[in-house]
Amino acid sequence: MNDAGIRNYSPPAGLLRGRVIAITGAGDGIGRVLALACARLGAQLVLIGRNIKRLESLHAEIGATRAPDAPAPDASIAPLDLEQALAPDYERLAAAVQERYGRLDGLVHNAAILGTLAPVEHVDMLSWVRVLHVNLTAAFALTKVLLPALRASADASLVFTTSSVGRRGRAHWAAYAVSKFGIEGLSQVLADELAGNSRVRVNAVNPGPTRTRMRRQAFPGEDPAQPTDPALVLGTYLWLLGPDSRDVTGRSLDCQEPRPVHPPAGPGSAAR
Ligand code: NAP
Repeated sequence: MNDAGIRNYSPPAGLLRGRVIAITGAGDGIGRVLALACARLGAQLVLIGRNIKRLESLHAEIGATRAPDAPAPDASIAPLDLEQALAPDYERLAAAVQERYGRLDGLVHNAAILGTLAPVEHVDMLSWVRVLHVNLTAAFALTKVLLPALRASADASLVFTTSSVGRRGRAHWAAYAVSKFGIEGLSQVLADELAGNSRVRVNAVNPGPTRTRMRRQAFPGEDPAQPTDPALVLGTYLWLLGPDSRDVTGRSLDCQEPRPVHPPAGPGSAAR
């Protein structure tokens, strides 16, 4: 399938039936909308996040999505604050997945924070460390503990979330952009490491400008109607999580048609 076909992928009913899929940052934004779509397509979900109330509300909504002829959707909540979590927290989560499901067929690293948008000389050290930790180091740590469960799947898909600023740097986006460059690198390294010796494919996805809290934070002056509705960027994610992308690994895909790259500008002045 070509890239436009992937972006416009229309998932058949039951595409993800029987698949166990974990999503980080599932409580809000793209993660929430993706979790609901996966549940409607039959996936059993592991909802990872730090805000229990948001996860519980999502869990209840998933429970209500049951189609008349389908089994009750299955979802579990896995509380994990990616900024605070230590090795035992990751290990507990991996053990819980192993005990409940015995494998993992999909892992979507979606959670991220924006941090401070400012010239490098004005970015404080704490903000830099937090962004790199939540966006990149935590994704490494979670992947590491969940790899045995992914390896236990007959057809596993590991999906990292990137950004256009993770492919070409942009003024004032220092920590966030560098964290996404790191995500692109980690995704490539893992794809190479797992090719030929596992059934785990590894790819990165750039949702493009999408109407979420993070987008509003990055571009407070933007017309809220401008960025795309999260429900309309899911084609690429669902294609990667389902069997149609089997054997596709090491790619970095766009969920929306890439827009022309503008010359560098200040925060709030260009679409990402
Ligand atoms: P969002 O609405 O801000 O949602 C981010 C999610 O990450 C929230 O559920 C949030 O949880 C979670 N999160 C943040 N810090 C966390 C932590 N310490 N521990 C656990 N979870 C944490 O953002 P979004 O726009 O949906 O972004 C989703 C992904 O797409 C991100 O990787 C982002 O970089 C990428 N992206 C977005 C756009 C866009 O235009 N929106 C463009 C390119 C790439 P809480 O609810 O607890 O805050």
